[in-house]
Amino acid sequence: MRKPVYLDYHATTPVDPRVLEAMLPFFGERFGNAASRSHGFGWEAEKAVDLARRRVAELAGAAPREIVFTSGATESDNLAIKGVLEAYRSKGNHLVTMATEHRAVLDPVRRLQQSGAETSVLPPGRDGLLDLGLLRAAIRPDTVLVSVMAANNEIGVIQPFREIGAICRETGALFHCDAAQAFGKFALDVNEDNIDLMSLSAHKMYGPKGVGALYVRRRNPRVLLPAQMDGGGHEFGMRSGTLNVPGIVGFGEACALCAREMEEDAGRMSTLRDRLKATLESALVGTAVNGSMAHRLPGNLNMSFASVDAEALLLSLPGVALSTGSACSSASVEPSHVLRALGIGEQAARSSVRFGLGRFNTEDEVDDAASQVIDAVRKLRSLAPGA
Ligand SMILES: *Cc1c(COP(=O)(O)O)cnc(C)c1O
Repeated sequence: MRKPVYLDYHATTPVDPRVLEAMLPFFGERFGNAASRSHGFGWEAEKAVDLARRRVAELAGAAPREIVFTSGATESDNLAIKGVLEAYRSKGNHLVTMATEHRAVLDPVRRLQQSGAETSVLPPGRDGLLDLGLLRAAIRPDTVLVSVMAANNEIGVIQPFREIGAICRETGALFHCDAAQAFGKFALDVNEDNIDLMSLSAHKMYGPKGVGALYVRRRNPRVLLPAQMDGGGHEFGMRSGTLNVPGIVGFGEACALCAREMEEDAGRMSTLRDRLKATLESALVGTAVNGSMAHRLPGNLNMSFASVDAEALLLSLPGVALSTGSACSSASVEPSHVLRALGIGEQAARSSVRFGLGRFNTEDEVDDAASQVIDAVRKLRSLAPGA
């Protein structure tokens, strides 16, 4: 059997072969602990980590000392949100976020709320975008943090993060941006974009799983951030634990590749995505795109297929690796909180599929996937009661 076409790049990306090659020696003879100061094994590892830190920083427009390596964007989100609320307690106890954030933001926010923080969770417009007037109205004198993602992992919508950051500057709130889906996909610059803290994940940008970073601004203003993980004082005291040297090396290599290739990748990706969209729309009635097309990641298409259950659709599509907008809990399939926040009805949300295209997809793959989706939608509709 042929391998399925992988169109789930928002869930994770394959490791680029060039990244893997850069990592391999650090599983082998270059196994040193980057914190070992007394011999060459340690120095070699430390040097590799330093290079990786410079590469991550460069892609973010940051200084190397502002990059704190973590296990991924979930940890970075927790460190940023819990840390800022802890450090700025004397200033205030209020934070602002959006209903369409990743669970790695919403769940820490909920936990803080349970322990006494005040939270404002703003709804997006129907297009998924944040209304800046709504943000201004939500920020209060005691607001210490605004957390809004750069690009959404389900609908691919890109928020006006630079304007959000400018409003935060003006009002004295810190701006945390979850850029797990955005970093390495289009140009970001923490200074031009007014970002104070930024969460990154290697495995969303052709690096390995289990490694990421938090950018923490050091000047104008200097962000205070107490560690959530105490131990040997690694990572400028903000995140203890022996560094994942092979993972960090891979993350650095992934950043260097994105710096060189992301513009070209983006052009190819949006051409393929638009081709997929056009093919589906011309062959099928009752399709609808969820979220803004104008402000969107080049590789994302989130589409509803009227009177088709997305879970059933994926089950009848073994040749394509895709996601629905739903999250399976043990008891039931809940429609996506992102689609519901857009004001999309439960039926439409349950009929939505997320297509995530990436660096290694070809035109043939996309055409093949489109024809399989078209056949499966037609078949399910012909079987549906009342069709
Ligand atoms: C994948 C993702 C995360 C979680 O990242 P991990 O590195 O897997 O912990 C957080 N936020 C967004 C927007 C994501 O897409």
